[in-house]
Amino acid sequence: MVVVMKLTAKPEEIAAVKQRLEEAGFQAHFIHGVKRLVIGAVGDRRVIDSLGLVALPGVEKVVPIMKPYKLVSREVKGENSLIKVKDAVFGGRELVVIAGPCAVESREQLFAAAQSVAAAGAKVLRGGAFKPRTSPYSFQGLGEKGLQLLAEAAQLTGLAVVSEVLDEPSLEMALEYVDIVQVGARNMQNFRLLQSVGRCNKPVLLKRGFSATIDEWLMAAEYILSEGNEQVILCERGIRTFETATRNTLDLSAVSLVKELSHLPVIADPSHATGNSRLVIPMSKAAVAAGADGLLVEVHPDPARALCDGPQSLSTEDFQLMMEELQGIATAMGRDL
Ligand code: PEP
Ligand code: MN
Repeated sequence: MVVVMKLTAKPEEIAAVKQRLEEAGFQAHFIHGVKRLVIGAVGDRRVIDSLGLVALPGVEKVVPIMKPYKLVSREVKGENSLIKVKDAVFGGRELVVIAGPCAVESREQLFAAAQSVAAAGAKVLRGGAFKPRTSPYSFQGLGEKGLQLLAEAAQLTGLAVVSEVLDEPSLEMALEYVDIVQVGARNMQNFRLLQSVGRCNKPVLLKRGFSATIDEWLMAAEYILSEGNEQVILCERGIRTFETATRNTLDLSAVSLVKELSHLPVIADPSHATGNSRLVIPMSKAAVAAGADGLLVEVHPDPARALCDGPQSLSTEDFQLMMEELQGIATAMGRDL
C-alpha cells in the first residue's frame, strides 16, 4: 500500500503519517518523486483500513499495491527514478554506457581499456576484482589490488567505476573504491547480500539471475529498496534457455516489460547474454530500440589474451565502432548518447 501525500503536505503531517504506520507495525519508506512524496507502507494489509490514514492532514489518497513487489513498482512511483553517478544519469534521456574488461588483469590492460572506452564516450568503467567463476581453478580476480587500479583509472579518465561484490567483506572493501556496486547474476537471490547493499549509500547494479523470472528479479530489487537504498539499476544479462548456440538468451522483452512495471532504470548486457563478440553490436542496437536506459559491454585491449570472457569481449576498435553505430538508433529513440 502507498500513502500519496498532497503537494502541500507539511513535514509534521508527513511525520504523523509515518508515526501512525509504525505504531501499527508497518515499515514506512519514503519515496521521493519530483513533485510529491509517497510513503510506501509494508505490513499487514488487513489492518490498513482501521488506521484512518485518509483522514489525516496532508494525505491525498491511500492506494493498495497489487504486485508482490511494492517499492520498485510503477504503481508507487509513476516517473522514472534518476540515478546519478558522477556526470552520468541513469533513467533519463541519456543512454549510459558501461564498458571495460571482464576482469582487472593488470595496470596496462585496465588503463588501455579505460582510456579507449572514455575516448569513445563510455561514462562508467567496469572491471571485476572478485570473479565468481564457474570453476574454482579459473582466474579469481586481483581482489583489493584490482579495486585500487580501478580507482586510479577512474581518476585518470574521469570515468565512474562499477565492480562486483560477492559478500560482506568484498562489499566493505569495494565501497572505498567504486561508485557503483554490482550484484552478479549468481548472487541475485543472495538475500543477505541484497540486504547489505541495501544498507550502503552507493548505487547498486543488480543483474538478473540467469534462471530468474522477472518477478523474482524485481523482488530481489525490492530487498535492496526495503533496506533504504533506492538507487538500483537493473541489468538484463541473458537467461538460460534450451538454446545453446549463444551463451544465454538475451530477453529483450524483459527490458521493455520491466520499464513498464518499475520506475528503476534498466540496462542490457549483450556481452554475457550472447557470449559472442560478433553479436554484441547488433544486440546493443536492439536493446536500445527496446527501451534500455544503457548498456554494459565487455571491452578488452587484446580479447584473444583475456583471462576471462575473451570470446565475448569487444576490441577497443570495435567498441568505438559500436558507439558510432549506436548514434542513429539512439537519436531515433529520442535518447542522447
Ligand atoms: C560480470 O558482469 O562480470 C558478470 C560476471 O556477469 P553476470 O553476473 O551477469 O554473469
Ligand atoms: Mn564477464
